[in-house]
Amino acid sequence: MNRLMWFRSDLRVRDNPALWHACQQSQPVIGLYFICEQQWQKHGLGPRRINLMKARAQELKKQLAELNIPLIILAADDFTHSTDILKALISDLSIAAVNFNIEYEINERQRDYHVSRWLREQQIEVNKFHDQCLLPPGDVRTKTDQPFRVFSPFKRAWLPKADDAISAPFGTPTALPQSAQALLRLLPADREPYQHTAQSDNLWSVDENNAHDKLERFIDEQIKAYKTLRDLPDTDATSRLSFELALGILSPRQCFYAAMQKNHGLLAGGNQGIDCWISELIWREFYRHLLVAYPELCKHRAFKPETEQLQWRQADEDFAAWCEGRTGYPIVDAAMKQLLEQGWMHNRLRMITAMFLTKHLLIDWRRGEAFFNYWLVDADLASNNGGWQWSASTGADGAPYFRIFNPTSQSEKFDADGRFIARMLPELAALPAPSRHNPDAFSRQQVGYPQPIVDHKAGRERALAAFKNLTPIE
Ligand code: FAD
Repeated sequence: MNRLMWFRSDLRVRDNPALWHACQQSQPVIGLYFICEQQWQKHGLGPRRINLMKARAQELKKQLAELNIPLIILAADDFTHSTDILKALISDLSIAAVNFNIEYEINERQRDYHVSRWLREQQIEVNKFHDQCLLPPGDVRTKTDQPFRVFSPFKRAWLPKADDAISAPFGTPTALPQSAQALLRLLPADREPYQHTAQSDNLWSVDENNAHDKLERFIDEQIKAYKTLRDLPDTDATSRLSFELALGILSPRQCFYAAMQKNHGLLAGGNQGIDCWISELIWREFYRHLLVAYPELCKHRAFKPETEQLQWRQADEDFAAWCEGRTGYPIVDAAMKQLLEQGWMHNRLRMITAMFLTKHLLIDWRRGEAFFNYWLVDADLASNNGGWQWSASTGADGAPYFRIFNPTSQSEKFDADGRFIARMLPELAALPAPSRHNPDAFSRQQVGYPQPIVDHKAGRERALAAFKNLTPIE
């Protein structure tokens, strides 16, 4: 009999609990990964991200072959189709046990519930593992046994528990004595492995060793300055590991553990840069815990129900200007150019652009969320939804709705010499640095840069009025 390792958003060989445990038994292991292109598109992922997922699967196949584990990559239309294929494979390949790491989104959980039930009915062992969070969602609760709704108390409760629970990441499993490759001949002809050629991406590597080098370099060279520099988009001061975390090329435990070793513990270890980076990783955990506690977030419902009453503007032209980086606010436009060109945007800029869309333009956060989801290589339901709802004041945030960033002062504060703006918007590079934040009408005309599509003060007041009229919901 054989064991099946079902890969999802955990495309790595190191510190992969489901894979590790599958390899501890003295049975051949077969890997399985579904390319659900139609479904991914339906859920709004863009071509760059989809290509990277395919490329990563190909790379994983090579790594697994060295461990004597064949990876079957199959195309499936959607979850129903993939579970039907899985059921057929179980008997074709004489599978005795299925291992996987848990996904937390509502459709994925429903799929796993049904598949697990079916497998158990067939007397097949099902082994599920948590790998997306250091502490499984549901494990961190208030004194009255409720899920936390605000980050700071969540973090205070999370830290000591995680400090107790964290252990060294698993390494690469030892190669199995014999390959299950021969078994694949048992597959019927219509189960031909998915044929595709993923293109290489000039910015994002799908190599697992490169991901570890990137983490190591960040920890060795940059983490200590993280607190001071992390808000400055022109310095390359953040890890840019969100992509590797989203595809599961790295595990959060590997990140926490590396930071912790540098800081001699997870709890405040004396270095502010490291504490601060750990705190950002806890934001990621927080949003996953929220998604499980409040599954309606997966359906893009507002976390604060009263904000469903907001009268968002349709304003398609304003939305198009925001998407294309033509709002006439240089920091917003430069940020959107970064997203379109790199598939990634700096965190400070994600907050500025999201707040601009939802407050100054009073456009529904769900449209911005979907746009980010399409373009980001690190697109992730929990963090994207969390970040958008935080920025729109519809989400889990202690601060009141009248926190509205002024894009120009944000620009002056975090891109003081206008270098980021000049890099992303070369038409403004010739202007003296202070004018880049908000060029006068004449300079705009001369270089062909648009006039602002909304006045900051007027936009702010319109947003305040819209929020003020909401009827609280108990
Ligand atoms: P670093 O600063 O090096 O932080 C390390 C890691 O911590 C990140 O890789 C990420 O996994 C996590 N992290 C950092 N900040 C946050 C945060 N605020 N919330 C949750 N996790 C965080 N992050 C995504 O991974 N995917 C998304 O789709 C996403 N959408 C966002 C949308 C909006 C509107 C906002 C405001 C934030 C969003 N974020 C998202 C969070 C954050 O902006 C990115 O994780 C971060 O910019 C990634 O860069 P980095 O890897 O250099 O982060």
